[in-house]
Amino acid sequence: MPLTIVRNDITKMDCDAIVNAANNSLLGGGGVDGAIHRAAGPELLAECRTLGGCDTGRAKITKGYRLAAKYVIHTVGPIWQGGGHGERELLASCYRESLRLAAENGCKTVAFPLISAGVYGYPRAEALRVAMDTCSDFLMEHDMMIYIVVFDRGSLLVSEKLFADIRRFVDDNYVSEHTDKDRKLRARLFGSFAAKSESMEGAAMAAPMAAHSNMAETVCEEAALPDGLAEAMARMDESFSQMLLRKIDEKGLTDAQCYKKANIDRKLFSKIRSDVNYKPKKITVIAFAAALELTIDETRDMLMKAGFALSHSSKFDIIIEYFISHGRYDIIEINEVLFEFDQPLIGG
Ligand code: ADP
Repeated sequence: MPLTIVRNDITKMDCDAIVNAANNSLLGGGGVDGAIHRAAGPELLAECRTLGGCDTGRAKITKGYRLAAKYVIHTVGPIWQGGGHGERELLASCYRESLRLAAENGCKTVAFPLISAGVYGYPRAEALRVAMDTCSDFLMEHDMMIYIVVFDRGSLLVSEKLFADIRRFVDDNYVSEHTDKDRKLRARLFGSFAAKSESMEGAAMAAPMAAHSNMAETVCEEAALPDGLAEAMARMDESFSQMLLRKIDEKGLTDAQCYKKANIDRKLFSKIRSDVNYKPKKITVIAFAAALELTIDETRDMLMKAGFALSHSSKFDIIIEYFISHGRYDIIEINEVLFEFDQPLIGG
């Protein structure tokens, strides 16, 4: 997944470079800056002294010393003054300049903290948005793995309204599933009326079971007849990979437009492209469904081809259903919400 959000201490990230939210002097400070200097050792400060400070929105690079990361990229974020003083552009410039330095120094993996979102007071949700948008723009032109590292829980990372809408949607759908389970449990524990409804459910279950056993016989028969099997195979539905490529064409996208929009690594996409029977992960299928702006039915169809479904007993599935059925396909936004709900992110 070329762009992802993780919860971690950035000094522990094993990347080619980690980015430091420094101040103009580059001579160390509190917050993430202090943590990076403590973990890297005094040699880092010694090198920083030779750099002559750094302007807001710009970046400078040093070695990583005792860190797992080979480099530290020091950038100076803007101090939040209400949003009308060019803060957004300066913050975006921090990410762009840091990524430019990372690319010039051959880095393939880079980790950022939420620059300016601590002592400098930039609202966290907006700081995350700038980080995600700027990094995703950069990834349109470059191959790199970028981590946005969120340290503490603090305030929300998505808008309160969106969070509340999704929380309600999850609760409504999750609860109905569990109410249903409760009902079945009550049925098992008490009373004949409940028992009746159980047996009806049992009958309903019997039909698919019978169908299944017939199917098993048919399969055995066919297996004994290699010609028949070959014929059946020839009639197989289109695979996930075939459906994906067809949809890309139908939507008039290029492959690169599609996999970049889907937050999918180029190498993974070429594997899928070259293997008609490729079995992707669920987070990969959903990322493609969002990038291709599929309807909820088309999404279910694509998931089924890869052996998955959307259920109401998983928060992840309900959140995905919320976005797709509301026609909201912004993968950055979906991932921000998934992260906020402690769910896996989509992409691959
Ligand atoms: P700034 O002055 O740019 O606001 P801060 O260091 O005060 O910088 O905070 C920037 C962000 O880094 C905040 O969101 C803070 O929670 C986070 N942070 C602090 N320590 C760490 C750490 N060890 N790893 C990752 N993020 C951190």
